[in-house]
Amino acid sequence: MIKQPSCNDSFEQGAITVAAAVTAILTATPVIAEYQQRALRDCLHGILFEDIRSPCDVPAHNNSAMDGYALRSADLPAASSRSFQVIGTAFAGKPFTSECQQNQCVRIMTGAMVPASTDTIVIQEDVNVLDAEHVEIGTGHRKNQNLRFAGEDISQGSTVLQKGSRINAAELGVLASLGINEMTLYRKPRVSFFSTGDELRSIGETLRSGDIYDSNRYSLYGLLKACDVDIIDMGVVRDDPEAIRQALLAAARCSDVVLTSGGVSVGEADYIKDILQDIGSMDFWKILMKPGRPLTSGKINDTLFFGLPGNPVAVMVTFYQFVLPCLRKLKGLPHKDVLTLKARSLHAIRKNPGRREFQRAIASTDAQGNLQVALTGKQGSGILTSMSQANCFMVLAEECGPVEAGSEVDIQFFIHYFD
Ligand code: AMP
Ligand code: MG
Repeated sequence: MIKQPSCNDSFEQGAITVAAAVTAILTATPVIAEYQQRALRDCLHGILFEDIRSPCDVPAHNNSAMDGYALRSADLPAASSRSFQVIGTAFAGKPFTSECQQNQCVRIMTGAMVPASTDTIVIQEDVNVLDAEHVEIGTGHRKNQNLRFAGEDISQGSTVLQKGSRINAAELGVLASLGINEMTLYRKPRVSFFSTGDELRSIGETLRSGDIYDSNRYSLYGLLKACDVDIIDMGVVRDDPEAIRQALLAAARCSDVVLTSGGVSVGEADYIKDILQDIGSMDFWKILMKPGRPLTSGKINDTLFFGLPGNPVAVMVTFYQFVLPCLRKLKGLPHKDVLTLKARSLHAIRKNPGRREFQRAIASTDAQGNLQVALTGKQGSGILTSMSQANCFMVLAEECGPVEAGSEVDIQFFIHYFD
């Protein structure tokens, strides 16, 4: 009798590594060479389709970095202190427009335009106020102090952001500082997804004996939301070949990527692979990883397809490892390895060489500030709370054997997958 592959196998004929699967996925993934105009706020997490050049200097004018007095550096006292006549006040947004003459100064607030003919700000703490119109200023000051120069952040005409950059909070601010309210971004990928399984009920439905609530659609929704893609949630599809075929065809017609969960292992109700083979092209991979070993990928016409496993943790792990790199490339982001850090394992961990393991873990710092990492507890691929408690994966490489408590392991924070 031929032995069916099992999740307990460490080495397997025909199985491929995680890295090989990622390479194959990226090779099959195009960059969406379409763009869309978006208003500034709607650009958050989007990817620029154009270089952004500055239409102006930022700051637009020389301005004061402090509250104090603006004066001409030629008047700065060299030996003893000197009295200056205060001839007015410059506020941010309300410039002082007259000229400053010899031994005169202007009261100035942070952000206010530096008055013509002045080039130096003496902070108010360094000034002795003599009366309403006079201040005394001592030695030790230098020309240009406490001044922010026009264009010192961004000069007019310079490239501020390059095509392929992602718009995060700081970029929104930078673009706003240039007065840019609309720009050209890569078109968002459209991603449809549905869950398969006769046991699955949507929230609000009554659970019969043997039923469970569909959780994968919700964790996938959460992951996709963080990716700036357009999401089409197609609900639950029964373990019925015709229903799955129709759902796949409908999803493929309107999406760049279709994701399903469940129905890709070797059980009797696992139809996805056969259907995909029929309506598109299909790769079924046994991947040297845990959890998430069976993964189906392929294409229906030009639409990319991922048949994720059914187990809720495996869904999230395979999304992070395979779907995210694909979405990043589609969106126009260059490939980047996820930041991997070293941490001291607080546990001994049983592991056989052979598969790459993504254990759910909590990283923190010890009293010396060094990274340490603890597992979340039970690591079964159905235990979704292990993902919710964790802030990182402990990544144990294929060749790695048992881990001793106190030894160094690799970790990847979840947040870095979205960098
Ligand atoms: P399958 O790959 O379809 O055999 O599913 C593997 C396991 O994951 C089974 O225990 C399923 O009940 C469970 N599962 C599949 N899909 C979901 C889902 N959408 N939400 C929660 N559990 C699921
Ligand atoms: Mg199933």
